[in-house]
Amino acid sequence: MVAGVLEASLEFLKREFFKYYYENLDRLVPPGPIGKREFGFFLDKKGGMLRHKCFNNLKDFHEFVLKEIPLDIYVSAARYEDPGNRDMGEKKLIDAELFFDIDAESAALDSDESAWICLKCGKYDYGIKEKCPACGSDIEYLETVNEEQLNKALKETDKLVRILTDDFGINSNSIHVFFSGNRGYHVHVNQEEFLSLTAESRRELVDYLLIQGFEEKKLIEVLRKKSLIINDLKGVIGRIYRRVLDSISSGKNEVVYTKSRLLKYINQAIEELKVRIDPVVTIDTHRLMRMPNSINSNSGMAKRAIELKKLLSFNPLREAVVLGEGEVIVKVKIAPRFKLCGRTFGPFKDEEVELPAYAAAYIVCKGMGEYAGG
Ligand SMILES: [Zn+2]
Repeated sequence: MVAGVLEASLEFLKREFFKYYYENLDRLVPPGPIGKREFGFFLDKKGGMLRHKCFNNLKDFHEFVLKEIPLDIYVSAARYEDPGNRDMGEKKLIDAELFFDIDAESAALDSDESAWICLKCGKYDYGIKEKCPACGSDIEYLETVNEEQLNKALKETDKLVRILTDDFGINSNSIHVFFSGNRGYHVHVNQEEFLSLTAESRRELVDYLLIQGFEEKKLIEVLRKKSLIINDLKGVIGRIYRRVLDSISSGKNEVVYTKSRLLKYINQAIEELKVRIDPVVTIDTHRLMRMPNSINSNSGMAKRAIELKKLLSFNPLREAVVLGEGEVIVKVKIAPRFKLCGRTFGPFKDEEVELPAYAAAYIVCKGMGEYAGG
């Protein structure tokens, strides 16, 4: 959510967002049935999230979006008997889609390229600092969306999709993958048998994906005895087993069957094979998901569906850019270099620059500058 932007900047964002929503309303369709879903919105820069909203039909929802022009739009993964009830228990959960969130990790700090801002006194600069040199408060690094980190997250997403289909037998038609519009990927699963999973079962599923609570001892026994036929080990245990065998056979005449050595190989395999999902998101059946094709006000890009067949060739920094190309002026405080639509922008510091609206919105959304006229 955009924090602390000036009135003119907020108006600029809303003007751009309106254009997009007006022209793309038919793409803004929540998972159904709409009358059973809870909606949430951030409407301005100050207030908290407006939750517990519900709509009887798509027309009412679209009218609300065009009238309020929300900065962010969310819809429940769950279907409820009474989605508008403010008491979570009283909403009466019917069922909920399985929902996964994989976020890109932060890029490593770089003394030339990293920019920071002090939230206390407002000072900002390039470089790496422990504390604000002006007032001694904690600083915050201004992060642009990093292509390389996004690609890593996309590979994790691919890993997740494979496990969902191969190990859980989920039909690929029931798996929907999205770029979140800022720095991560979302996976929605709406296959019938998985909708009614309890929070407890979802937790077990999360443990499986993160390979938590794995019993190394048993695997070490198996490895030492070499008594098992590999094909008997299914799913993630089988993959760990095969990976450890690979590590052993690539070792150079070492005595490999010591417990500590095997444990090291097992832990390496786990690091490689686990899927880095956010566990909290998946376990919580009351979670609100960012609405597909809505704009993410952390960047001005949209949450975009990705075809499974083209998953690994998806380019978020091109395909999720939806705002206009008309040039506007932004007064930039500080903005590290960033890439959108195949163009590289910045780095900027203390300057007024003329940029396409999508890049200007990006700077405003990230709190790096203010709108200064069309
Ligand atoms: Zn300061």
